[in-house]
Amino acid sequence: MTLSRIPVPLFIGPYVYQCQLVPGTKLKEKGQIKEGETSFLKGWIRVREGMTPERERETLLHEIHHAVWDCYGIPTTLPEAEREEGTIRPLSTGMYTVLLDNPWVVNYLFPGRK
Ligand SMILES: [Zn+2]
Repeated sequence: MTLSRIPVPLFIGPYVYQCQLVPGTKLKEKGQIKEGETSFLKGWIRVREGMTPERERETLLHEIHHAVWDCYGIPTTLPEAEREEGTIRPLSTGMYTVLLDNPWVVNYLFPGRK
């Protein structure tokens, strides 16, 4: 199972992202072709086509983390004693919610596993 060029909706909190595979030429930044990109303002996640299925899945998961980071307001300036829990709590809540609200993501990330 791979993503396709046809956008698939992904719900992250109140936001909807359209996920799709795109040619690497659409993911260029400073002359480098990136593996994925997320636009919070435009509501899309793009993953570079032509990668191995495992790298494609990991890239989608990476981009979902960016969207969760944005949605759940993960703090970046906590004192050291609060940093670990203060970061992991909203990240785990956000990721759990993403997986609950988007069962296709679980099937996509772990094909053939029940
Ligand atoms: Zn990144």
